[in-house]
Amino acid sequence: MFLKRLEIQGFKSFAQKIEIDFEGGVTGVVGPNGSGKSNISDSVRWVLGEQSVKNLRGSKMEDVIFSGTSKRKPLGYAEVTLVLDNKDKKLPVEYSEVCVTRRVFRSGESEYYINKNSCRLKDIKELFMDTGVGKDGYSIIGQGRIDEILSSKSEDRRNIFEEAAGIVKYKTRKEEAEKK
Ligand code: ATP
Ligand code: MG
Repeated sequence: MFLKRLEIQGFKSFAQKIEIDFEGGVTGVVGPNGSGKSNISDSVRWVLGEQSVKNLRGSKMEDVIFSGTSKRKPLGYAEVTLVLDNKDKKLPVEYSEVCVTRRVFRSGESEYYINKNSCRLKDIKELFMDTGVGKDGYSIIGQGRIDEILSSKSEDRRNIFEEAAGIVKYKTRKEEAEKK
């Protein structure tokens, strides 16, 4: 499984739709300060369901929507689509390509889609559970995260190992069953 494509429209500094195709190997993103490099990684975290505005470097969810410049009007919504190659079926679905979309309006309402079918945030979380890909998965290592992993409480470290071991699914189901 690997990140194949990213489509960003109206998210932070990206007023116009951009599409980034990732080839094999390593991709580096370079550019001057403030040109939007971190906004790209924010968009990945956001489409995977990030709900914390602090993790997205904003103060309210609306801050992810393009807020306009002297030349361009603000936009009404932000939308990000992430396309994953799933030929190896690491994600537990039949599709060999999985695309996840999130859209948010100024009213604060978020919409989620898996392969263009409307779904809940919960479905996205479940899709990526135990794969390392989710918004807190170890496939996204933000600045400072290494220190966090090394110095955090043993309970937090355990969560990382549990995700890698693939048992979060069962733990979550057990917790949900106990609540009922
Ligand atoms: P650095 O090299 O300093 O880390 P960077 O390339 O990572 O820079 P980003 O942090 O990705 O830069 O981009 C910051 C820019 O995004 C700022 O110019 C900011 O004005 C712009 N920006 C952030 N949110 C919005 C928004 N909602 N609407 C329009 N522009 C935005
Ligand atoms: Mg940056």
